[in-house]
Amino acid sequence: MAELTYTEPKPKTIAGAKGDWELVIGLEVHAQVASKAKLFSGASTKFGAEPNSNVSFVDAAMPGMLPVINEFCVEQAVRTGLGLKAEIKHYSAFDRKNYFYPDLPQGYQISQLYHPIVGEGEVLVDMEPGIARKVRVERIHLEQDAGKSVHDMDPNMSFVDLNRTGVALMEIVSRPDIRGPEEAAAYVAKIRQILRYLGTCDGNMQNGNLRADVNVSVCKPGDYEKFRETGDFDVLGTRCEIKNMNSMRFIQQAIDIEARRQIAILEDGGHIDQETRLFDPDKGETRTMRSKEEAHDYRYFPCPDLLPLRIEQSWIDTIGETLPELPDAKKARFVIEYGMTEYDAGVLTADITDAKFFEGVAKGRDGKQAANWVINELFGRLNKEDLKIGDSPISALQLGGILDLITKGDISGKIAKDLFEIIWNEGGDPAEIVDARGMKQVTDMGAIEAAVDEIIAANPGQVEKARLNPKLAGWFVGQVMKSTGGKANPKAVNQIIAKKLGL
Ligand code: ADP
Ligand code: MG
Repeated sequence: MAELTYTEPKPKTIAGAKGDWELVIGLEVHAQVASKAKLFSGASTKFGAEPNSNVSFVDAAMPGMLPVINEFCVEQAVRTGLGLKAEIKHYSAFDRKNYFYPDLPQGYQISQLYHPIVGEGEVLVDMEPGIARKVRVERIHLEQDAGKSVHDMDPNMSFVDLNRTGVALMEIVSRPDIRGPEEAAAYVAKIRQILRYLGTCDGNMQNGNLRADVNVSVCKPGDYEKFRETGDFDVLGTRCEIKNMNSMRFIQQAIDIEARRQIAILEDGGHIDQETRLFDPDKGETRTMRSKEEAHDYRYFPCPDLLPLRIEQSWIDTIGETLPELPDAKKARFVIEYGMTEYDAGVLTADITDAKFFEGVAKGRDGKQAANWVINELFGRLNKEDLKIGDSPISALQLGGILDLITKGDISGKIAKDLFEIIWNEGGDPAEIVDARGMKQVTDMGAIEAAVDEIIAANPGQVEKARLNPKLAGWFVGQVMKSTGGKANPKAVNQIIAKKLGL
């Protein structure tokens, strides 16, 4: 498998009154498992259903109801672990995390504290071509989502919607290896990209499908390197956790604001209390949600209703065989196989459907040209109309057909753009359209010569000037293209003009 080389980015520093500070960030990403049914019940996970319509007796925690593990959710967690190059545990178990909240009818959340299903992995976070940060993943565990309390429907009452109760989440916990706000957003973006490739999470942040708790601390230059050498957390600053971030922009803003808050306190001689905070984007501040003293004691204990999971290596291997080519590998292959830049390869592999479309166009053709057309013409046009690749009125077959006509010399790049436009609006077979509408490029040398002669004869003044300044030959090219309706083969036109003007 091909790999691209990269160097690590510099950590973000913030200049304080008493010198520079560095940021240390660890993320807990909660990703909803793509599954039609919930983690321990057969109820549907469909988004946007009538409140409380997707609730089984298990989800509602009716007395005597017992959870039954959904094997597909376990498979999805294993697939995710493999996609993050992580160790899949042959033994894992569920624990109860006890707390009271109106949207949690069980009175506890079933999670995996002591024996998570996935252990150490890693994610390569791309910052720009050639620059990437390797972030270690500490663990992934499976857990249930809670319901939703609705406070804004009535001035005197709150409501509870249990549709989300019991939906499977994967909590992906990173090591504190992220070194700046942009890196944090890029990390979440990379996780989302990988999960979408794997088909294990839709990654729709607006629907709360993917959200992150962000842990931030600050330290002095050199401290982080000491931490990496010794593994000693005490050389790092005290962290604060900002809960439930569901937008890339807010993640970046919150980290920057929180780091500056901590720096101001430390430079003032104060110390940071480990606490959970909330980000208020309107006020541009983070504020205390609960301090360490108020931290919940969840009284974790192994869930007596569920047997531990024992996963056979053969099952892991079977799942491994179904993994798609992942973003890093695909990007590297695109660079090598099609000779495109890493930047272009990044654009084309951002989404697996985009990548598939591109390869449909590029197969057996000039990869660089295909990349240009897909990125500039097709993606440009799709963006303009706010469409996704799946809605493209031009298929990979049609776009490939346009490129074939350019390669054969039947049409120029300029005519190809007109043809693109026609097919975008009306559909049809590229070659047939070119024939039917007389769009074929004139490569008949005699015809081009005649057009050149005519223009030279009509413009003796320009001929004089061009002989002294060969750059002006371009004017003749323009005139010939105009007189042939853009259909003259530009290469032939250039050659004939140069010959006739004696350049
Ligand atoms: P908790 O159970 O309290 O959430 P974890 O050990 O699970 O604690 O850690 C939560 C997250 O905090 C992890 O992503 C970890 O990398 C991160 N983290 C730990 N120490 C620091 C620190 N000093 N600065 C920033 N992030 C940290
Ligand atoms: Mg945590």
